[in-house]
Amino acid sequence: MAVQETPEERAEQDRLILDAVDRFLERDVKPVAHDLEARDEYPREIVERMKELGLFGATIGEQYGGLGLSASTYAKIVERVSAVWMSVSGIFNSHLIMAQTVERAGTEEQKRRWLPRFASGELRGGIALTEPDAGTDLQGIRTRAVAEGNGYRVNGTKTWISNSVEGHILAVLVKTDPAAEPRHRGMSLMLIEKGAGVQVSRKLEKLGYKGIDSGELVFEDCFVPADNLVGGDEGRGLQQILGGLELGRINVAARGVGIARACLEDSVRYAQLRKTFGKPIAEHQAIQFKLADMATQCEAARLLVEQAAAAYDSGERCDMEAGMAKLFATEAAIHNSLEAMRLHGAYGYSKEFNIERYYRDAPLLAIGEGTNELQRIIIARQLVARNPA
Ligand SMILES: Cc1cc2nc3c(=O)[nH]c(=O)nc-3n(C[C@H](O)[C@H](O)[C@H](O)COP(=O)(O)OP(=O)(O)OC[C@H]3O[C@@H](n4cnc5c(N)ncnc54)[C@H](O)[C@@H]3O)c2cc1C
Repeated sequence: MAVQETPEERAEQDRLILDAVDRFLERDVKPVAHDLEARDEYPREIVERMKELGLFGATIGEQYGGLGLSASTYAKIVERVSAVWMSVSGIFNSHLIMAQTVERAGTEEQKRRWLPRFASGELRGGIALTEPDAGTDLQGIRTRAVAEGNGYRVNGTKTWISNSVEGHILAVLVKTDPAAEPRHRGMSLMLIEKGAGVQVSRKLEKLGYKGIDSGELVFEDCFVPADNLVGGDEGRGLQQILGGLELGRINVAARGVGIARACLEDSVRYAQLRKTFGKPIAEHQAIQFKLADMATQCEAARLLVEQAAAAYDSGERCDMEAGMAKLFATEAAIHNSLEAMRLHGAYGYSKEFNIERYYRDAPLLAIGEGTNELQRIIIARQLVARNPA
């Protein structure tokens, strides 16, 4: 019989995992991040270490071979990783959204078939929603899956897909009934392994978020077995993926806290070392104001992330909480990266320091997992829905 863990034992387990992540970051990521980022090189050795640490199964249930971490602990991992090199978090974040969607919405057979291989990192991937003509308005996608024999024939193009070049499998949002009204009833989610009928047409060049692959995928008469339709039913794909995106938004928010904190820590250190007019710049009031604002943004962002993660862990609907955390923490990262650059003067603009990387990485957070404009819409709709006049 399985022995139930006490909350104290769980807390101790979480602490051991966070310590292991800290050691991994110190030893395996920090020394190489700058060079790999500059060369836009996929961090293969880091991926191998992440497999050993179990990060590809961080939120997957223990019964399927994962670590079964809560969203709260997972957010702490994402913050730590992102404070060192945000791209590394992208390699397991969208992979875990795919896994979470299978775990929440898949059939038992699908969970047993896929989740252990996702957890070990043997099969890695992400989510393929965005198309050249549809991002925020996901109901406008055109990728079409037509029933054929014991499966579907898929045709269409997905773009900006993280882990699509180096990964092996993707949760792909398709239209199974383009005439359906409302449109989401005609949308389904399928697990598609790369292979015949799936081509990576190009790797996309980006301002930041280097090292991790963002690609364009073309599906051309790609046959997908009916067993790969998540949950086994057509017409539920949009709800299934939006459920996974709650965790996705918490993790993007946690990335924001990581970058905001890295900017703050580098700035606090530099402000004590750099002298102008005979004293460290930390003693000039204009710089003190910057440090105070950066620290406050960082702390407030972390509290919002903790609140959203706790709501997620309790099983409550948390789109408003996740939206607020995502909006605030990612804007904090953008704010802190620009303030850190000003505070570092010319050195902030130099490729030799990390500040310019934070400054290039931070704006992505306002776009990914639903733009910050979309988060405001979600928050406002929920405010009205939860407070009827
Ligand atoms: C590096 C990177 C990695 C990514 N990884 C993935 C991935 O792994 N999988 C994936 O599927 N996608 C991925 N994306 C795509 C990302 O999710 C989309 O870019 C995002 O959802 C926005 O879509 P869009 O770019 O088409 O912008 P659009 O939807 O065209 O929006 C353009 C602008 O209009 C605003 N807007 C849109 N609708 C409204 C509205 N109703 N009211 C007010 N403002 C509105 C938006 O906020 C934005 O400012 C990635 C993108 C990047 C840059």
